[in-house]
Amino acid sequence: MSDYRVVVLGLGGIGSAAAYWASRRIGREVLGIDQFELGHDRGGSEDHSRIIRLSYHTPAYVELAKGAYEAWEEVEVDSGDQLILRTGGLDLASTHATIGLDSYRSSMNAAGVLFEELDAAEVMKRWPQWRLTDDVTAIFQERSGIAMASRANTTHRKLARENGATLIDGVGVTAVREVGGEVEIEVDGRTHRAAALIVAAGAWTNSILKHFGMEFPLEVTLEQVVYMTPGEPLLFHPSRFPIWIWMDEPSFYGFPIFGEPAVKIAWDRCEIVTHPDTRSFEPRPDVIDAVREFAARRLPGAVGDVHLAKTCLYTLTPDRDFIVDRVPGTDHVFTAIGAGHAFKFASLLGRALTGLALDGATPYDISALAADRPILKERNPARAYMV
Ligand SMILES: Cc1cc2nc3c(=O)[nH]c(=O)nc-3n(C[C@H](O)[C@H](O)[C@H](O)COP(=O)(O)OP(=O)(O)OC[C@H]3O[C@@H](n4cnc5c(N)ncnc54)[C@H](O)[C@@H]3O)c2cc1C
Repeated sequence: MSDYRVVVLGLGGIGSAAAYWASRRIGREVLGIDQFELGHDRGGSEDHSRIIRLSYHTPAYVELAKGAYEAWEEVEVDSGDQLILRTGGLDLASTHATIGLDSYRSSMNAAGVLFEELDAAEVMKRWPQWRLTDDVTAIFQERSGIAMASRANTTHRKLARENGATLIDGVGVTAVREVGGEVEIEVDGRTHRAAALIVAAGAWTNSILKHFGMEFPLEVTLEQVVYMTPGEPLLFHPSRFPIWIWMDEPSFYGFPIFGEPAVKIAWDRCEIVTHPDTRSFEPRPDVIDAVREFAARRLPGAVGDVHLAKTCLYTLTPDRDFIVDRVPGTDHVFTAIGAGHAFKFASLLGRALTGLALDGATPYDISALAADRPILKERNPARAYMV
């Protein structure tokens, strides 16, 4: 006899969603566990905002992103909470950029997603906050916006509890094993049994998977966002300033004023490899400088006093694609790795994991996200994080 049908290990962005979607189907038969207090910011999912967008570099991700919006809409309806704020979104690249926009255009075309092609002059006409040279072009997709990350996590957990799920925090899972067609989970001196285990442990995933004799070639990086107080805040109101991504190496991205009285800008992948248990929480001045230098050149009105700078973890796969699958070598253990761009998909991934755990399948096309794809079997794979 199982204590629970599904145990969710990790209640960050993806695990909170999994607890919610599982609870919609099996209520009290769901147990969620986190090693820290719920809503802690030691992982990858806590801040006011994350970018959500349909604009992606493969048709499969664009289709998945359509499903992500639908999943969030269901949670909004179920909770009455607004979780997505539409601002529109700009992907910008110069003709010399390392990433470029071609794969984004072709993927959205293949998926039937409308977008606008803008030259530098048109971008600056519509959003005079930008200073662009003629070699820059942009894609504007009107559905892009903000996923309200911390609020969404709270909402997922609140609804899960209302559906009867048990969520416990401040207790780390110390051992897991498959026994007699079930999974045993040791936590806080107790052993729980479950028909299925969902590992949503983000940067700590390998410390759990080692109990099953495997690990993924993950790299954990220390990321940092910088909130700056602009001189003219109205110019950066969400109704007047879309979310944006600067597609190059280095890549930057940013938000209008939301959650703090400041704009948020970050350098994607600021190249600091770390470990979740020994990481620093101290913002690095050189990363702040890099963000300020970028903004001074491209968004001078956004440069102002640093209101807040905070760190956060990416858990990167070598190809920067997610992993959403059964854990190889197990029968009843499932996981999702977000690869530093999964918040927009968090609710969908929780739903997909629930399908895998309860039905052995999900209607979403996750074939490219398999846990046994060749690059994940390499010990020292080449890493290509620019997508
Ligand atoms: C600065 C930054 C900016 C980002 N921007 C975007 C963006 O704009 N758009 C976007 O879509 N994505 C973005 N992402 C990525 C996205 O936020 C992450 O991919 C996603 O939130 C990861 O969620 P997770 O649930 O896998 O991990 P986490 O939220 O870290 O959750 C893992 C949880 O597992 C728990 N845990 C681990 N081990 C144990 C254990 N042994 N026992 C109990 N609990 C355990 C941890 O305590 C933690 O709460 C960003 C990430 C960062 C860091």
